[in-house]
Amino acid sequence: MSEDHVETYYSATARDKRGFPTLHGDISADVAIIGGGFTGIASAVELAERGLSVVVLEANKIGWGATGRNGGQVTGSLSGDTAAVQ
Ligand SMILES: Cc1cc2nc3c(=O)[nH]c(=O)nc-3n(C[C@H](O)[C@H](O)[C@H](O)COP(=O)(O)OP(=O)(O)OC[C@H]3O[C@@H](n4cnc5c(N)ncnc54)[C@H](O)[C@@H]3O)c2cc1C
Repeated sequence: MSEDHVETYYSATARDKRGFPTLHGDISADVAIIGGGFTGIASAVELAERGLSVVVLEANKIGWGATGRNGGQVTGSLSGDTAAVQ
């Protein structure tokens, strides 16, 4: 069962609202990534740019989880990365 995006600024202003097909049966790839949030999509792009075939398996919609709900703030206090605040 796939859930739609929650109502956020991101979902309200998204220009690309395409859906992706449900996986039926088997699929082959060099790498399978579970979850289409920042982590999964960034990893997929990095790996694809290095020539690997990548499949992203997302239970709901791309950006459905925390990625589609966050405040968009880049701070060291959230990430714990002190380099980000220097
Ligand atoms: C309200 C809120 C505000 C935030 N504000 C900030 C901020 O201002 N700045 C900041 O840096 N960070 C913020 N964050 C944190 C940041 O959004 C998250 O750390 C980041 O989005 C996590 O990305 P992710 O890809 O790891 O997880 P997610 O975006 O949650 O992606 C995980 C995906 O995996 C899918 N999934 C889970 N299980 C399965 C399965 N078994 N099969 C297939 N798919 C599955 C989910 O549907 C989901 O789409 C905020 C988070 C929230 C919730």
